[in-house]
Amino acid sequence: MGASCGHDNQFDGESPKYKAALWAVIAINGGMFIVEMGAGALSGSMALKADALDFLGDTMTYALSLYAIGMSLRFRAGAAMLKGMSLAVLSLWVLASSIWHFFGTTIPDAPTMGWIGFMALVANVVSVFILIKFKDGDSNVRSVWLCSRNDAIGNVAVIGAAWLVAITQSKYPDLVVAVLMSTLFLSSAWQIIKQARNEWKHDGQH
Ligand SMILES: [Zn+2]
Repeated sequence: MGASCGHDNQFDGESPKYKAALWAVIAINGGMFIVEMGAGALSGSMALKADALDFLGDTMTYALSLYAIGMSLRFRAGAAMLKGMSLAVLSLWVLASSIWHFFGTTIPDAPTMGWIGFMALVANVVSVFILIKFKDGDSNVRSVWLCSRNDAIGNVAVIGAAWLVAITQSKYPDLVVAVLMSTLFLSSAWQIIKQARNEWKHDGQH
């Protein structure tokens, strides 16, 4: 799950192949953020909206890797702070509206949830294969796999919720998944903010 994909991308920033790979995953993740958020709004699925947060977080992580090459630690701390704040605000919004929907009558459209959830899974798998060859060293490879595994768990949770919504004709599977995921994102956003604050303060002492 995305906000936790905070692994620092420290590779050879000058490699044009690496920059092209970053642009590719930025396009995939940014596009999927819009698609999944939009589909969430159209289908009335809060779980899709919560899952979309991951794509936003990952898009910002990759954009930061691309843009922050050669920038100061303080600049990167500021950018990470911005990322943490925007994720926190969006997670709070998804969490609050999911809780609100418990009192509503909307039943999300299960086929849309299922297909978009599947598309999200494919997008995450494709992103791993684009990035994995640029990871050097065991710990970096491990962090890509761990992060992608968490993303895939989120996607599969959305697909599972779609299936449960279809057979029970109930809104609750969607809302339970949405509440769990947005709470997770909120706590990782908080971790990002705390870490960015520490880095900012630490850099100020030099
Ligand atoms: Zn992610």
